[in-house]
Amino acid sequence: AAKREKSGVAVYDARLHERGAAHLTAVTELRHAIDRGELFLHYQPKALADTGAVCGVEALARWQHPTRGLVRPDEFIPVAEENGLIEPLTRYVIDAALRQCRSWSDAGWEVPVSVNVGAACLHHTEFPGDVADLIKRHGLPARLLTLEITESAIISDPDRAVEVLRGLTELGVRLSIDDFGTGYSSISYLRSMRVHEMKLDRSFVTHMCTDAGDSAIVHALVALARNFGLQAVAEGVEDQDTWTALAEAGCDVVQGYFLSEPLPAEEIVAWLGDRAAA
Ligand code: C2E
Ligand code: CA
Ligand code: CA
Ligand code: CA
Repeated sequence: AAKREKSGVAVYDARLHERGAAHLTAVTELRHAIDRGELFLHYQPKALADTGAVCGVEALARWQHPTRGLVRPDEFIPVAEENGLIEPLTRYVIDAALRQCRSWSDAGWEVPVSVNVGAACLHHTEFPGDVADLIKRHGLPARLLTLEITESAIISDPDRAVEVLRGLTELGVRLSIDDFGTGYSSISYLRSMRVHEMKLDRSFVTHMCTDAGDSAIVHALVALARNFGLQAVAEGVEDQDTWTALAEAGCDVVQGYFLSEPLPAEEIVAWLGDRAAA
């Protein structure tokens, strides 16, 4: 055994098994979580940069794990993406977000909701039909739903993605390019695609007031959005100065901790009520 350990083989094997087992558990647990409804949503408000009026919320997935507690999406979304679970997860999230949107609408609040769409969904031609069914089931106008997609999802299979995105546009849902400017960008697709919104990644936004490079990127991206007739949305706005700078740069919508953290549905209702009263 010592000899094997010296060669590194035994140690390597053990680690591989351990990782493999832990990984399998995570995949199985996530599948159960989706089936049993252990996933739930927090909602983060967005506001018009010039007036501060709330103009929608982004639904963000949370997982209440029976023993590990609250698991962050940065941990379980990649697991879902890699193991064929992102489509059921995305359907689940859209369904839950639309149910919430409907209950707000019944209470007299028309709140547009944005949902993050996993990359693999854009490679499946059934996806627009699935979204159509969900919208119909909840009896909502399609324009209240915005789907946030990432550039990498488009670029990995552009032909298929264009077809799926066209199907989604025809339903009347809004399309947003999330984390714009990060990863492998090829902005040429903006010519051929009818998207409505560009989301500037918080990695450029949060420090734009103290970092000249970030500020230059944000200004360039807002100009790009304007030239393509897209609404520019900045995420990761953590202070008043950044909000002001974004409004001056011509950015349309702000989102971030300065306005509010993502909140459970009940709390967002109270939060919206407080703001409306103020
Ligand atoms: P994202 O779509 O870019 O979402 C924004 C993330 O930034 C959220 O983290 C949000 O809580 C956080 N955030 C918001 N405002 C601020 C701020 O002012 N400062 C800072 N530092 N952070 C801020 P969260 O909820 O942990 O989500 C992380 C990522 O997980 C999301 O990034 C998205 O890519 C993914 N994700 C979340 N929910 C879903 C989902 O339902 N489906 C899919 N496919 N992906 C999801
Ligand atoms: Ca997003
Ligand atoms: Ca984002
Ligand atoms: Ca992000």
